[in-house]
Amino acid sequence: MSRIVYVNGAFVAEAEATISVFDRGFLMADGVYEVTSVLDGRLVDFAGHMARLERSLAELEMAAPAGREELESIHRELLARNGVTEGLVYMQVTRGAADRDFLYPDGAAPSLVLFTQSKPLIDTPAAARGLKVIVLDDIRWGRRDIKTVQLLAPSMAKMAAKAAGKDDAWMVEDGFVTEGTSNNAYIVTRDGAIVTRDLSHSILHGITRAAVLRLAREAQMRIEERPFTIAEAQDAAEAFVTSASSFVQPVVEIDGTALGDGTPGPVARRLREIYVSEALKSAV
Ligand code: PLP
Repeated sequence: MSRIVYVNGAFVAEAEATISVFDRGFLMADGVYEVTSVLDGRLVDFAGHMARLERSLAELEMAAPAGREELESIHRELLARNGVTEGLVYMQVTRGAADRDFLYPDGAAPSLVLFTQSKPLIDTPAAARGLKVIVLDDIRWGRRDIKTVQLLAPSMAKMAAKAAGKDDAWMVEDGFVTEGTSNNAYIVTRDGAIVTRDLSHSILHGITRAAVLRLAREAQMRIEERPFTIAEAQDAAEAFVTSASSFVQPVVEIDGTALGDGTPGPVARRLREIYVSEALKSAV
């Protein structure tokens, strides 16, 4: 059965969906996106994703395609039409179609595209066994806090990880870890502190990051928001990543060095449990 997707005002079969060849998302990666996870047919951290979308749009002086309520009802309609109970909703907004020019066009109507992906998020082999990551230079642009659709650098990094027989890559700039290719990166020091890079233009301000740090603080865990090196990470008790699609995922090996006994650590496992149980409770 083919999916029903949403394109600029219409719910259509995916094979029938079209977008202009002049769309600036297609020509210039002039677009932003959000990925919201779905549990029990409900949206996780939806308000956070909407707030970040609005911030991304504002940073790029891009018009919003619709208000929050309308975007939420499109999400719900798409979930219902596709019978999704566990998986993801992808939403992309671009500056719309205009004759090709570097300058932003006046008055182009933004394009809005949404589609769903049905897949297990809670019980996954990767969460059970943990990820092995390679380390690469961060070759992305300087505004990683804006969630744009220009994803070639992370695609190249994921391909390099796959070619090395590993799961993902952590990226390094000026000697410090920025983040994973599609997730925020954390270590747990031997004396129990959770360390993750502080917010800036260098990393995406993860919605899962915000939720996990809040839950960790509520559980009286110690948190340090600061940069860390690969050497510090390889010497850490454990490591993990967070994202809307993976929640909290343990990292068990960094650039060939196993962490601890090479299996998911207790802090990462506990945070995953806490996050999933909270997400199931608070999803809308
Ligand atoms: N960092 C990058 C580069 C990402 O692409 C993502 C998610 O796609 C994240 C972090 C995690 O963000 P979130 O928790 O909002 O999914």
